[in-house]
Amino acid sequence: MLPMTDATAARRAPHDRRRGLMLVLSSPSGAGKTTLSRRLLSQDDDITLSVSVTTRPMRPGEVDGVDYHFIDRPSFDRMVAEEALLEHATVFENSYGTPRAAVEATLADGRDVLFDIDWQGTQQLADRARDDLVTVFILPPSIAELERRLTTRAQDSAEVVAKRMAKAADEMSHYAEYDYVLVNEDVDRTLADLEAILRAERLRRRRRLGLSGFVNAMREGAGR
Ligand code: 5GP
Repeated sequence: MLPMTDATAARRAPHDRRRGLMLVLSSPSGAGKTTLSRRLLSQDDDITLSVSVTTRPMRPGEVDGVDYHFIDRPSFDRMVAEEALLEHATVFENSYGTPRAAVEATLADGRDVLFDIDWQGTQQLADRARDDLVTVFILPPSIAELERRLTTRAQDSAEVVAKRMAKAADEMSHYAEYDYVLVNEDVDRTLADLEAILRAERLRRRRRLGLSGFVNAMREGAGR
């Protein structure tokens, strides 16, 4: 179990507090997950992104420490051996993992954490922190639209696109392991659905702190 946190202590009544949650977004590439997570992060101060470590080479436009912490294989293996990763997996021949310390620090600071990880990592988090986890799978609106989004360059060969589609199909076959599934037809509407999920999940009774003390104090007072 991850540390108990109090995400709203500063602004709430003592019996209207909660601990932080872990929100996982998974999808095949091309379903719009990156746009959704960027927009959610930019408008919600109570949630922060878990920046993964990866052995994959940096792509143009990516920033070390922002998109990922880009590390070499020996460093990755060391983090695994030292149990410094909350979960880790191999995706498309590269290794990815979630640094434990950053997540625990964020939760302890009273904030929620957003994870952009695949189904393998989601299963590992579910084994370790099910009560704190909310999992959302993003599906594309159609196969044709996904194919259009995965055909990024005109010179992509049919073989390259077919390979990307096969990877997408593989990831998508895990949708049923998630708490929520959103079909991303319109990004504004999908974002609104995601906000609704987050808002309701933050109110779940099992995340609430201080309720029993409040109710007990009421009962003691009423019995006087
Ligand atoms: P990309 O290399 O395109 O950024 O990401 C490839 C896949 O790896 C995506 O599905 C992404 O969600 C997943 N991924 C990124 N970071 C992590 C991580 O820390 N753990 C796991 N299990 N998957 C990750």
